[in-house]
Amino acid sequence: MIIGIPKETHPEEKRIPFLPSSVERLSKKGAQILVEAGLGKTLGIPDADYQEAGASIDGRQSVLGKADLVLRLRKPPAEEVALLKKGAIHISFLDPFNEKALVEALAKAGISAISMEMIPRTTRAQKMDALSSQANLAGYVSVVLAADRLPKIFPMLMTPAGTISPARVFIIGAGVAGLQAIATAKRLGARVEAFDTRPVVKEQVQSLGAKFVEIDLGDTGQTEGGYAKQLTPEQLEKQRQGMAKVCSQSDIVITTAQLFGRRAPVVLTKDMVAEMQPGTIVVDMAVESGGNVEGSKVNEEVVTVNSVRIIGLANLPGRVAAHASQVYSANLHNLLEEYWDKDSKMFNLSLEDEIIKGCLVTHGGKIVNPILIRK
Ligand code: NAD
Repeated sequence: MIIGIPKETHPEEKRIPFLPSSVERLSKKGAQILVEAGLGKTLGIPDADYQEAGASIDGRQSVLGKADLVLRLRKPPAEEVALLKKGAIHISFLDPFNEKALVEALAKAGISAISMEMIPRTTRAQKMDALSSQANLAGYVSVVLAADRLPKIFPMLMTPAGTISPARVFIIGAGVAGLQAIATAKRLGARVEAFDTRPVVKEQVQSLGAKFVEIDLGDTGQTEGGYAKQLTPEQLEKQRQGMAKVCSQSDIVITTAQLFGRRAPVVLTKDMVAEMQPGTIVVDMAVESGGNVEGSKVNEEVVTVNSVRIIGLANLPGRVAAHASQVYSANLHNLLEEYWDKDSKMFNLSLEDEIIKGCLVTHGGKIVNPILIRK
């Protein structure tokens, strides 16, 4: 089985889908690995390291055209779908809820496309869970970015020149990214508060030493997959009212609220931002899926009239590209190893397996994922 790995094409992407250490593990299992020349360049990894690990170096067209299985980080450019071999397996993030035309093109081309954001959030699939591996790092980056922009320090300091009080950080949404943001802000010495609509999160927030902000929204619950349910407009309004005071007292507000497969909820309105203290830093981690903060802009830092800085920078894990690549590459090789057939030395697309059923989007010329079909 030929496994092909093309270079990422997004001009600002520094992450790499597959590292030499992963190549080595797979080639020992009998895979033939083709890598596009320059694959590791953004992280300073020379082609020679991939060759030493057992890969062959080739041109892009050849890698895409020969591969029985393609590994990438980002979704493929539409024009490259036609270059893939009919029947090939393609594994990458796909953004399938927003990329309908791309998903249809992959189906039509006879590609079996696996979407990394659709890997089920189950214990068995944890080692392949790229949403978590990237969100975890994004949570860290959000705090470091905010700390850099804040003209204050995080910890309390008692000095001969007086006492400096700790920075107050409010994290909205305590999933994977939010919990890492809480842990990072705590490590730096901030006083941290957090809120999430899933009541089960309260204990996790408290175990990290942060305070859970109590807002009674009535029944919020969570989906079978463990995701938040969409709130009613009345619940969302109640949530905003409940958070407004904490926001106005915070130095940093980090929003991570997401609804799987839907546009992110607006948790901070213009009015709430207007009530914040001058100099407050807001990081909208959901900016790429519609935004949690009214007025945030993708890839921009907006400063409001009352001097609140709203950071909407995209691709936060890409800012720690070495570690983000390390864990994404491990997610991919764990997925490949889980379904690797030792005898045929092939990736076995087990159509009856729960994880594969969850993340396989197209197969046999059709869109096969029940969640996408239902949408
Ligand atoms: P996510 O990125 O979909 O959402 C981030 C957080 O925003 C969630 O905690 C969600 O509850 C919260 N949220 C949604 N609407 C909100 C609102 N209006 N206000 C405040 N918060 C709001 O979530 P995620 O980080 O991908 O995690 C989703 C779930 O999956 C969690 O329960 C997580 O623990 C679970 N999970 C399980 C596994 C596993 O068992 N293998 C792995 C990873 C995640």
